[in-house]
Amino acid sequence: SNTLEKAHRLKKYNAFITLTENEAQQRAQQSTQRYKIKKPLSELDGIPIAIKDNFCTSNIKTTCASRMLSNFIPTYNATVYERLITAGAILIGKTNLDQFAMGSGTVDSVSGPAKNHWMYNENNDNFYISGGSSGGSAISVATGTCFAAIGSDTGGSTRNPASYCGLVGLKPTYGLVSRYGLIPLVNSMDVPGILTRTVDDCVVVLNCVAGFDPKDSTSLTKPYRKIRLPSVNKLSIKNLKVGIPNEYHCEHLDEEVLDVWNEVAKLLECNGAKIQQVSMPHTEYSIVCYSILNQCEVASNMARYDGIEYGFRAKEDASTEKLFATSRSLGFNEVVRNRILTGNYFLLTRNYDKYFNQALRVRRLIVQDFDEVWENVQLLLTPTTLTTAPLYEDFVQKTNRDQCALQDYCTQPANMAGIPAVTLPIKLSSKGMPISLQIMGKNLSEPMLLALAKYIE
Ligand code: GLN
Repeated sequence: SNTLEKAHRLKKYNAFITLTENEAQQRAQQSTQRYKIKKPLSELDGIPIAIKDNFCTSNIKTTCASRMLSNFIPTYNATVYERLITAGAILIGKTNLDQFAMGSGTVDSVSGPAKNHWMYNENNDNFYISGGSSGGSAISVATGTCFAAIGSDTGGSTRNPASYCGLVGLKPTYGLVSRYGLIPLVNSMDVPGILTRTVDDCVVVLNCVAGFDPKDSTSLTKPYRKIRLPSVNKLSIKNLKVGIPNEYHCEHLDEEVLDVWNEVAKLLECNGAKIQQVSMPHTEYSIVCYSILNQCEVASNMARYDGIEYGFRAKEDASTEKLFATSRSLGFNEVVRNRILTGNYFLLTRNYDKYFNQALRVRRLIVQDFDEVWENVQLLLTPTTLTTAPLYEDFVQKTNRDQCALQDYCTQPANMAGIPAVTLPIKLSSKGMPISLQIMGKNLSEPMLLALAKYIE
């Protein structure tokens, strides 16, 4: 009840779309009973968590922050949610996001923007954005309302808000954590992400949700070996080869972020790690290709929302065609409609090779850049976001496309390649906002990735 009371008190940050109070109270009672007889289900029994509102939760509204799904109540649970509640965790609520997870700010939600609690001033209309699209998940953890939250990460949506809110944010290897029940954005890049305050907390949640799921055809079949906390604490960084990719020194990278990046690299070197400058020549093309592939998959994924089978239905009876069109134009916001339109343009027979196929070819080159770099280094250290959290009023001056082109520069290559990446807070900027760095590793290198994160933490 303390947690729920806190969630109410902190409503001003707009972290939640739905609070699941009744369920939470019921589950808390059951959990108390289990503790009384000393039989908790797991270390997560009774622990408050939050889940982004694009994961299906049976009998609980799942809106994707869109009018299109404003009354959608799924009949089944996403696997990540199912595994967490089976472990005894208590869902406090479904969190705010950019509509259908398309964005980097949590500014495009029908529920209004999620606000960053850092430097928040109640008497000032302007505030720092939480980042996105999993901004609500980040705020629910950063304010101490929940122990952990689940986000989704297609191009950086878990790491971006984690970076702006000063949290640990993990994007696991593609296929390690089931996508079943996660409403798709880009099927070939989506992964559920984890937001926590510390690396240890992240490991506990990852151990609970990772592993093969027959309900997700892209789920990795290799059995998941739980990461043991002591092994995370024991990393010897002596001779650990860490790469600094030249191409991540990009335009618009904030001086303070660059300084922090250099400082941490120096610190690792002083403690025995081997720091190497590496080159990943195709990095600069990644963001445009990500954007093309994103829009193509969006065009296909959003086709299901026609107002007939499910989704918002407009009052329109002139013709079925008109009903589709009006439902879709009223149900989706401009960002979603734009992406559908652009995606369909790229997919036209005459454009298919020029855009979609070409972007796929470049995607292979991005993967190749990573594969080559792993021959020389074990992990990569980069910024997560180019700046600290922007102010809301500055951020919304830009179009969604420009916001993403800037904010996702360092995060989306990991999604293009499917590799794991973690962001962690390092220190506060001169404005008092968190500055974070990202570590990337090869597929399934989560144990080493998190061990280095823990070392730096
Ligand atoms: N900002 C990116 C986009 O809008 C990433 C979104 C995400 O990871 N869900 O596509």
